Amino acid sequence: MKAKDYRTTLEPVWCTGCGDFGMLKALTQALSDLEVPVEKLAVVSGIGCSSRLPGYIRSYAFNSVHGRALPIATGVKLARPEMTTVVVGGDGDGFSIGLGHIPHCVRRDVDLTYAVLDNGIYGLTKGQASPTTDPDLKRELGLAGATERPLNPVLMLLGSGCGFVARTHAGNLPHLRAMLRAAIEYPGFAFVHVLAACITYQPNSYAESLWKRCSMVPDDHDPTSFGKAIELARAERFMLGVLYRRPPEEKPATAGPEGEHSAGIWPPVAAASESVFPV
Ligand code: SF4
Repeated sequence: MKAKDYRTTLEPVWCTGCGDFGMLKALTQALSDLEVPVEKLAVVSGIGCSSRLPGYIRSYAFNSVHGRALPIATGVKLARPEMTTVVVGGDGDGFSIGLGHIPHCVRRDVDLTYAVLDNGIYGLTKGQASPTTDPDLKRELGLAGATERPLNPVLMLLGSGCGFVARTHAGNLPHLRAMLRAAIEYPGFAFVHVLAACITYQPNSYAESLWKRCSMVPDDHDPTSFGKAIELARAERFMLGVLYRRPPEEKPATAGPEGEHSAGIWPPVAAASESVFPV
């Protein structure tokens, strides 16, 4: 199937230029690359602008309740382990109300791809601060502004023991497509942090400054090194690429039938011998 064959006839209602369009396009391309049959595909989301995405993809689609996409996708995987299951959503849905579900999904190592389109704002409800809002960003809504330190989602997922962690930008379609493809192929819980800007509720300068803060991970980066992944996650710049991919030999033996996965392991074996948090 070609990428366009994964689209429904519904027209997206996103603002022209929103990063959600990039996510939609790259996801259909990745699914086409992997030749995922639509009857074996489930796309699950919570609530928010990017969570409208399941309606635009030919699949079993579930636009669920706020912050509950991961438990619902876990249920899909429990009932139908053969389904390629992709969870999409935004930073508000995933890192605020839905945050508590992430480490548990990670420790169970549910074979899902979780792609979070992180624009650092609640776009659907007109621009309130989210858990990843840049405190330097002036906003019109919110009584006190964003005074709290933002979450670092990549560091958080690594710290939870996630076996696949990547970061990309919604405006770089080939890279986004490659990251989604690698995440879907990964046999376990895979997290893709997708940077974006909200062109309606953030100033144009925000999108520009976001691009300027991005760098590709170095060519010689070893994604199986947990310590190096932590270093990249803590960098001042947003490092794009596969930051961490747990080596296959560190996966526990599968307890269920072939193709299913039992719980993940923590801490990664490599971490024990590396200085992860320098003193
Ligand atoms: S409000 Fe922002 S996040 Fe929502 S569709 Fe428009 S540009 Fe995208």
